[in-house]
Amino acid sequence: MGLRCGGRNFFCFVLVSVIVLLPAFPVFGANGPTVALSVDASDAPRKIFHAQLRIPARPGTLTLYYPKWIPGEHGPTGPITDLTGLKFTASGKTLKWRRDLLDGFTFHVEVPAGENEVTANLDYTSPASFESGYSAGMSSTEKLYIVNWNTLLLYPAGTGSDQLTYRASLRLPAGWKFGTSLQVENQVGSEVHFAPVSLTMLVDGPVITGEYLKVVPLTPPGENPPAELDLAADSPAALDAPEEVWEHYRNLVKQAGILFGARHYTDYHFLLTLSDHVAHFGLEHHESNDSRIDERSLVEEDGRKMAAGLLPHEYVHSWNGKYRRPADLATSDYEQPMQTDLLWVYEGLTSYLGDMLAARSGERTPALARDALAQIAADLDHRSGRVWRDLQDTADGVPSMQLAARAWEDYRRPLDYYDEDVLTWLWADVIIRQQTKGAKSLDDFCKLFHGGESGPPTVKTYTFDDVVTALNQVAPYDWRGFWMERLSNHGPGAPLGGLEGSGWKLVYDENPSDLDRVENRDGKSINAHYSVGLMAAADGAIRDTVEGMLAARAGIGPGMKIVAVDGRRFSADAWHDAIRAAKTSPSPIELIVENTDYFRVVKLDYHGGEKYPRLVRDESKPDLLTEIYRAK
Ligand SMILES: [Zn+2]
Repeated sequence: MGLRCGGRNFFCFVLVSVIVLLPAFPVFGANGPTVALSVDASDAPRKIFHAQLRIPARPGTLTLYYPKWIPGEHGPTGPITDLTGLKFTASGKTLKWRRDLLDGFTFHVEVPAGENEVTANLDYTSPASFESGYSAGMSSTEKLYIVNWNTLLLYPAGTGSDQLTYRASLRLPAGWKFGTSLQVENQVGSEVHFAPVSLTMLVDGPVITGEYLKVVPLTPPGENPPAELDLAADSPAALDAPEEVWEHYRNLVKQAGILFGARHYTDYHFLLTLSDHVAHFGLEHHESNDSRIDERSLVEEDGRKMAAGLLPHEYVHSWNGKYRRPADLATSDYEQPMQTDLLWVYEGLTSYLGDMLAARSGERTPALARDALAQIAADLDHRSGRVWRDLQDTADGVPSMQLAARAWEDYRRPLDYYDEDVLTWLWADVIIRQQTKGAKSLDDFCKLFHGGESGPPTVKTYTFDDVVTALNQVAPYDWRGFWMERLSNHGPGAPLGGLEGSGWKLVYDENPSDLDRVENRDGKSINAHYSVGLMAAADGAIRDTVEGMLAARAGIGPGMKIVAVDGRRFSADAWHDAIRAAKTSPSPIELIVENTDYFRVVKLDYHGGEKYPRLVRDESKPDLLTEIYRAK
């Protein structure tokens, strides 16, 4: 899962139907029942999808599950509220069913004597507005749709998802093309039939489909395994990115191969959706990723800077998260709860390596890569939530906390196992380089831990001890002590030992970095995170404040709105002017703040000017960071 996206020419609008039939179960051996699944997505612009399943059954009670714990989303995020139109029949007769009283994702169907198959019909009514949710969020527009199969099916209890076989078909809106890592058996008109796969690999194989679809090969002809970029957009213009964009993604595939030394897929598809009307995130799979960004992300320079890092992150997950997976995240089916205590490896290391590959591929210039790292370091250096919550708890708590609101995010810090761990894994990388006098690096750990034999997807689980053992094989050190300290540390301040050891220092000056400028839309939204501890939208609405910093101490909190600055109606310009003027004035900045229909004057006695983070070179130390970011 990737969240930071501000959490990354051979164009032809052709059908993606590379028919290379491999053995039916390239990954997980399925020897359980076979379920036939037909999905009708021809109503995609209306955001309603119809599915029919034919499920082998025996007389008595048939228990079926709707997928609840979704891989990569690290929580019980299956969109059960959007499962509608449920009807069960056998030999044309309607069957009685009842939802389980203790688990709303479980259904019990009464199968009459003499029947050996149940037909289930269901509708999935996809969200029509921006509500919370990843793959359960908005996924279709007038021109495109991302099919996540877990939203469209039920499965019988008692057989693991590796053992269940699904024979799926998909009806598309007329004229829409598609891309997926699933093997296509045949296509008749708008109906696509996929080769049977385990339920695990079906859920792991989303389909991107749309009127405007572009395929960009990312590996040279004949290279095995191949990789390609399948893009769907809300307009053909959004697909017309400059050549350098595709070159960076070709570099990404090449650099990842060099980093890990093996590939654990047979055919990789980056499924990239360009739309302002779908949920924005990235979700990893063994052989693909479902990543969604703004419509014009690739055709505008600022958009490219915002989106950089997302695809490298999701691609790294093919190795770190899918192939190598924490043992207690590798559950037998979607009903089993996941334990997320090792997400500091699954997501934290992926964030570090994703940022590293964004730089090595050229998607981020070295300067932009440093801007991104400076931002992470500065955010964590001011993170008020570190006082009460250690890094381990951010991983442990995510199934319950990942969909928390933006307000109070700094104090709640729900997902810091992503960003704080970028600093921590950098620290580990620096220690390896120092301990081995430059002979080894975290690259060697990646080859050892994630490499091995290339081949089709498989899962190799690990524990905390396995991580410690592998690190010790690369460079003997007290890695257990290192991680125990990093996972339980409360600060004060961010864990900057790795950054400083890499030859760079975190400093603040009055000019926003290029990345700050882009993210805050040239200063139109207010990022006073590091000065008074306040973040606000362009209209003055307070998004968040930092507990203990000046704005919070003065009585400002999320949900309030700044309506005036120094007696003048609020605007971003008025704010920036006031911060600058206060540098040479003894008077406090005077705000009028609106809160639940009341207005209040708030005085900020601040004279430190604007503060934006950046990294500067520490010439007393070797420049390891530049070496880490250098293409291999
Ligand atoms: Zn991730």
